[in-house]
Amino acid sequence: MSAPEDEPLASHLSFADLDIDERVLRALADVGYETPSPIQAATIPALMAGRHVVGLAQTGTGKTAAFAVPILSRIDLDDKAQKAPQALILAPTRELALQVSEAISKYAHYLPGLHVLPIYGGQSYGVQLSGLRRGAHVVVGTPGRVIDHLEKKTLDLTRLRFLVLDEADEMLQMGFQEDVEKILSDTPADKQVALFSATMPPQIRRISKRYLTDAAEITVKTKTVTAANTRQRYLQVANAQKMDALTRILEVEQFEAMIVFVRTKQATEDLAERLRARGFSAAAINGDLVQAQRERTIAQLKSGAFDILVATDVAARGLDVERISHVLNYDIPTDTESYIHRIGRTGRAGRTGEALLFMTHRERHLLSSIERATRQPLTEMTLPSVEDVNTTRVAKFADSITASLASPQLPLFRGLIDDYAREHDVPVADVAAALAVLSQDDQSFLLAPEPPVVKRKNEFSSAADRAGDRDRDRDRDRPTVRVAGQRRAKSDVRLATYRIRVGKRHKVQPGSIVGAIANEGGLSRQDFGHIDIRIDHSLVELPADLPPRTLDALSRTRISGQLIELTREDGAERPSRVKKPRHKP
Ligand code: AMP
Repeated sequence: MSAPEDEPLASHLSFADLDIDERVLRALADVGYETPSPIQAATIPALMAGRHVVGLAQTGTGKTAAFAVPILSRIDLDDKAQKAPQALILAPTRELALQVSEAISKYAHYLPGLHVLPIYGGQSYGVQLSGLRRGAHVVVGTPGRVIDHLEKKTLDLTRLRFLVLDEADEMLQMGFQEDVEKILSDTPADKQVALFSATMPPQIRRISKRYLTDAAEITVKTKTVTAANTRQRYLQVANAQKMDALTRILEVEQFEAMIVFVRTKQATEDLAERLRARGFSAAAINGDLVQAQRERTIAQLKSGAFDILVATDVAARGLDVERISHVLNYDIPTDTESYIHRIGRTGRAGRTGEALLFMTHRERHLLSSIERATRQPLTEMTLPSVEDVNTTRVAKFADSITASLASPQLPLFRGLIDDYAREHDVPVADVAAALAVLSQDDQSFLLAPEPPVVKRKNEFSSAADRAGDRDRDRDRDRPTVRVAGQRRAKSDVRLATYRIRVGKRHKVQPGSIVGAIANEGGLSRQDFGHIDIRIDHSLVELPADLPPRTLDALSRTRISGQLIELTREDGAERPSRVKKPRHKP
């Protein structure tokens, strides 16, 4: 490949060089981050120096720590009397708000008494009110709910020092522009603002010009390379399913040796251990290993003493082992440069290589950055099916028989088996089968057929699903709008059509409808079916059995300033459309 060979990763820095609070540093060591990701290396010093920041960054780049670490390092914990939040992080969805809030709590592990409070539509006000009354240093909220609390005067932002807009483009797309601008303008003028966005549409540029002062603009550069002799594939898979996906791939894919990349030191150990428990020959390397241990492990990999090396980026830097036929990105790298270094570990010495990438639904943006950086499209792969795995097991079993037939011990054992079969009067084939059972360590030889799969939220085997979506669209006779990024409601959810009193006349977009209803009703984007925007009203498919609390919240929700007055369009008595669970092909 034409990438600069074994050049160190973008960041030569360690977290210790970034002047961050020693207690935060300790927490980062605990979570196992070895070096700052490029967005962190660029953002943390700017925020530590009090500058405003505009960061072009996507989920998966490490942007949460990029803003959380400096905020936590600079927050004032001494003033016990102060109950008003010092930091507010605005996030487009409750999922992200919760995720960010959990990450911050982890980084704040050694900051005694630091309170982080998530506030989002859909959760009862009670929990949030008592949290706010108790006092929270950091609030992570969705814009609609933050505005609600401001209007009710239950959230005091007069002492705000840090404001972060996370996934700003997504927030605008969901119709939160007005709310976001209100929060920006109604909070102290001297607060420090950090705005993160995966894209920079003109509205975001305008917002950053208007509300940020002399902002440091941070874009992580990516080098372009060509990895012509390495085939690159990706698999969209939920975190919880990664281990199963990995073991299936290890069984079915023909490989000589493989490096599996994970993000943290602990993950290298955990994963190697779990692989060994499942009968694979695996070892871990990470930055904690002393040089001698590292060299020993690499020598063993070279000699074929084991075939699967689980590594962090740092530990695998410069690794040059010809027999590595595959690199598997178990955790998507935080930047494209790491990806390029990772896949450069295969396809060595003119051989061909295979690069595989696991990607969760939320990380799909990173795929296009990687494609741009490597100037190659990644092809989607399908998870090997139970049938594929079983076929491979049977073939390997047959191969092992063939290999054993050449053993010099064969005549001895043949004699013993013949004697046994004669004495016990059983067919020789049964004796052979009994010996095969003995060799199986009590584990069942074949995988059980898969139960019909009810897909988890956000996880699609996209080709099949897209076909399903197309069929469904063809079946419909009225014009409908499919919301970007949203495929279908949860597969076994009964949907009903609801009417809301906003339509084209009010200039509503599908995004603003989903944003408002999702946040105020505590729904997820996957709860939405079709959205049909008419002149003065819109029809929205939502779960048929919305609880009264949700209906109540939605009856008071506004979009574009207009009360939506959500009502059942089809009459609650009528049976609603039932979505059949999908069966995996
Ligand atoms: P984010 O982009 O903030 O959603 O982070 C994506 C993932 O990268 C999360 O799982 C983080 O725990 C992880 N992460 C963030 N910073 C680092 C780092 N410096 N080293 C390793 N992993 C990291």
